[in-house]
Amino acid sequence: MFAAMLDTSLADHVNRTLSTEQQQILADLRAYCTERLRDGATAELTRGYTEPHSETMARELAERGWWGLMIDPRYGGAGGGFSDVGIFLEETFRAQAPIAGYVPTFIVVAALNAFGTEAQCQELLGAVAAGGVLAISITEPLVGSDAASVTTSARQEDSRDGPVWVINGEKRWCSSAHVASHILVICRTSEESDRHHGLSMIFVPRESEGLEITAIETPIGRVSNELVLRDVRVPGDALLGTAGNGWVQTVAGLNAERVILAASSLGLAQRAFDDALAYVQERKQFGRPVGSFQSQQHRFADLATELLKTRLLVRWVAGLVDEDPARLLPREASMAKLAATELAKRCALEGLQAMGANGYDTQYGMVRHLQAALGATLYGGTSEIQRNIIAKTLGL
Ligand SMILES: Cc1cc2nc3c(=O)[nH]c(=O)nc-3n(C[C@H](O)[C@H](O)[C@H](O)COP(=O)(O)OP(=O)(O)OC[C@H]3O[C@@H](n4cnc5c(N)ncnc54)[C@H](O)[C@@H]3O)c2cc1C
Repeated sequence: MFAAMLDTSLADHVNRTLSTEQQQILADLRAYCTERLRDGATAELTRGYTEPHSETMARELAERGWWGLMIDPRYGGAGGGFSDVGIFLEETFRAQAPIAGYVPTFIVVAALNAFGTEAQCQELLGAVAAGGVLAISITEPLVGSDAASVTTSARQEDSRDGPVWVINGEKRWCSSAHVASHILVICRTSEESDRHHGLSMIFVPRESEGLEITAIETPIGRVSNELVLRDVRVPGDALLGTAGNGWVQTVAGLNAERVILAASSLGLAQRAFDDALAYVQERKQFGRPVGSFQSQQHRFADLATELLKTRLLVRWVAGLVDEDPARLLPREASMAKLAATELAKRCALEGLQAMGANGYDTQYGMVRHLQAALGATLYGGTSEIQRNIIAKTLGL
């Protein structure tokens, strides 16, 4: 009965290997997104995509339990694991739901699940389960791929209300900071001879005095921000995990980050493929659909094969993380992130070519898919860095 509710695309044949609960999530999500994102509704939700995160939609998804995936029910969440979050991301990104805030939020949720105190989980996971957003900030103007070289500093001081952290520095590319309640800032709390030591993770409320948040203009709207922190003071218990252990905690979160980025990119890849396929079936030249030309047929055959391979890879890695969230999977998680983000870029590029000039018309959406996909091969470690990691695990 369930299979009959789903359409017969290639992706849906694979979906039958999901658990009954996951198939239900997928079917319900698809129905919700179809209804909510019908013509005109997207503009209402996102003011025409200049703000790719809709708080209204986040709340609606929270009411249905989906925003609370991977959050313990005692904090108001819906439970579940990375495989469930992966399915949520595949489907919502395929539907182009305006929920950009979900991605950084769930990277931070994974960190809270691993290192949060009871009080932090009560406050922050509770807020997320109700539709809230969290952000994470590592990158700085002079620190990108070499993330352990962070210079933003935090020093401890005593105050009348107990110890506080005083944070100073500049950050860049902090996604969704402008809609987040808190930003998890990676900063240096002590100078050590090895730069991997002495880093810490500290939660900074968005409304903190001394924190300035400025939008970075990107082709897909306001996704990311610059932060300037001038003597920002937060309580001592804003520290996540252990002082000086920030690098170890960051590495421990990389599986989560890469699975989340891979699943969202896979959804984007699927959407670019779906849109281009629909177009070539409709558009006629020389008296026949352009999709009937062999060069087009082969293009779509190749992309469909890559989509299936990548879907299996991403879901397999998500399943491995669920089996043992503490196990590090540098090779497999990097492969999933590399494969899915590069595939999103390829699907959008090839989709644009397959559609001819209309692919280049912003109204048809393919250019936007391409712009979004280009970002995905950069954030969370560029494709070059993922390849470096994979090569290292091969002993090279
Ligand atoms: C849309 C978007 C959202 C983002 N969101 C966040 C966020 O929420 N939080 C956050 O902290 N950061 C975020 N980032 C930043 C992102 O993680 C960094 O851009 C990324 O780590 C790469 O750093 P960089 O851009 O400074 O490139 P650089 O490190 O300056 O690298 C420049 C080029 O050199 C290559 N390169 C560098 N080192 C090597 C090497 N060892 N081997 C081979 N090639 C190398 C890179 O691959 C790249 O092609 C975001 C970025 C984007 C575009």
